[in-house]
Amino acid sequence: MDCIFCNIIERKAKAEIIFENEKIISFLDINPIHLGHILVVPKMHCIDFLSIPEEYLNPLIQVTKIVTDAMVKSLKPDGYNLFSNNGNAAGQSIYHFHMHITPRYFNDEIKFKLNLKQYREAEMKDFAEKIRREVRS
Ligand code: 5GP
Ligand code: ZN
Repeated sequence: MDCIFCNIIERKAKAEIIFENEKIISFLDINPIHLGHILVVPKMHCIDFLSIPEEYLNPLIQVTKIVTDAMVKSLKPDGYNLFSNNGNAAGQSIYHFHMHITPRYFNDEIKFKLNLKQYREAEMKDFAEKIRREVRS
């Protein structure tokens, strides 16, 4: 298996590392939405959000906050997006989980092209029930 993010973690590939600790690494995206776009990556190969081991979840969110805070203080954007693409249909291109953090600016002309739906009568309740049945806390 050749994974570019594993190679960055193992220093077999170069990256502009922003911060790392025992479990998480963060570095600049090579093709940024805006300059300063950061990726936050668990230091173990897991494909998507649901396959992240439990003990990596809190560190992932903590490091996401640390580097977002640093990005906001240093670049002073008007706002920022946090997101993650999971699966081909959702636009994932690197199959090692990562969180994106990108600065945003007023009138930057970046739009997530949405096609919003509406629930029909009772459909919202049906969807909520279907999902609730599978909730395991
Ligand atoms: P995805 O499309 O999976 O949500 O995001 C993958 C991201 O990884 C893309 O934004 C892409 O620009 C970035 N990327 C791909 N290859 C490399 C690389 O070799 N180095 C860095 N720093 N980022 C990469
Ligand atoms: Zn990997």
